[in-house]
Amino acid sequence: MAKHIRCGSLFTGLTTRAERDQTIVAQGDRIAYVGATQAAPKPAATDTVVDYGQAFVTPGLIDVHVHLSYGNAHNEEDLDLYAPVEFRAIRAMMGAQQVLAAGYTSLADPAITGRVTIAVRDAINAGLYVGPRISCSGRQITPRQGLADYYPTWIGVPETSVGVLVRNVTEAIEEIRAEVKDGVDFIKIAADGVYVNPQTGELGGCFAQDELDAIVAEAHRLGKKVISHARGREATLQSARAGCDVIFHAFYIDDEAIDTCLEKNLVLCPTFALMVNGYEFTQATDGNHKHRDLMKRIVDEGVPNLLKAKKAGVKFLVGTDSGFAITPYGEWHARELEFYVTLMGFTPGEALQATTVNNATMLRDHADVGALAVGRYADFVVLDKDPLADIRVLQDKKNIRAIYKGGEPVKLPKHVFDPAKVSRFSYDMWRDMYTQARVKEVPTRSIAAE
Ligand SMILES: [Zn+2]
Repeated sequence: MAKHIRCGSLFTGLTTRAERDQTIVAQGDRIAYVGATQAAPKPAATDTVVDYGQAFVTPGLIDVHVHLSYGNAHNEEDLDLYAPVEFRAIRAMMGAQQVLAAGYTSLADPAITGRVTIAVRDAINAGLYVGPRISCSGRQITPRQGLADYYPTWIGVPETSVGVLVRNVTEAIEEIRAEVKDGVDFIKIAADGVYVNPQTGELGGCFAQDELDAIVAEAHRLGKKVISHARGREATLQSARAGCDVIFHAFYIDDEAIDTCLEKNLVLCPTFALMVNGYEFTQATDGNHKHRDLMKRIVDEGVPNLLKAKKAGVKFLVGTDSGFAITPYGEWHARELEFYVTLMGFTPGEALQATTVNNATMLRDHADVGALAVGRYADFVVLDKDPLADIRVLQDKKNIRAIYKGGEPVKLPKHVFDPAKVSRFSYDMWRDMYTQARVKEVPTRSIAAE
């Protein structure tokens, strides 16, 4: 019994255009035919025909930068300390479902706690829960002052952190081998973080080049791709030289790194959503308010460098860093496509192709997702509006008429919950300091009078 899906407009991802009056025939979870309705096989008596003749159909969207174990964290302690890892796994399942409900049928999670996303991925694949197709790394491998080494040395990087501190290449290689044994799909490395190179005054690389080379070589030897977090110029260049398959952020990529990316076929994923949301939405009462202008500066300075890379022919993936309080699950994934159009000069078709076909290259089932083509999974989204006319229509869930994963319409539970019980375990006991002078200025009560 096959399903014949009639599509008013169909974007397969194989080109940057949509075609009119197309049909997808899904046999089981795979596509058996995709093309003009006129040339499509005639439905048999036992087949079903679904009419989306007025709608726009696109491949299921993919976000390659979603942190399912972060739980929409407000701060570093939320990320690493308070919620038990077991609770994070259950919470991550809800996050995964919220991502799927936004039209994202696949995601990649770079940097997890424990084995949270591995468990969520496997539970979905086993059919225990409805959710997107997931690929993930293990904990982010960080050297001193790399991204996940944010606590002081006397605390270190706790066992329950989203990162794991390695003190040398031997420890990094042992961690990679353990993660591969645990079933990760790729390796995530923090090539920079907070270390500022005193010679240049720029964000510096935290590994020496030969260390990074050895780490990437071991991941590749075990058949795993490597994602590097590299925001600064030096770590971006080091990551490119070492052959990191995907470089996240790369806002300060230079000419040499661009050439190396082209030579080694490495791709970039800048992740604007975290920065732009951070600049546009952060309130004066938020601790990150002091970094607002820095976030804008990084985007302003980064875009020309990234445009140079694009012009030279470097490929881009699309991701959002969802999982923080400024980028909650299911909310801002498609906003990244808008930035690809407004900041990076992509056409809507190119942005859609990057977030489907390009992003698929990072996934464990890369040969089966991305484009809508015969033999691949029938993962697609049915929209009431045309994203090629206005890419922002993807951000409004009201425009999503249906989401199909493996040829079946997705049905998800509604999540109504109290955020304080889900992700806000760290709290300020007091924001102010109540000296005798301060107490004279603020309203007080008297216990004697009550
Ligand atoms: Zn991230």
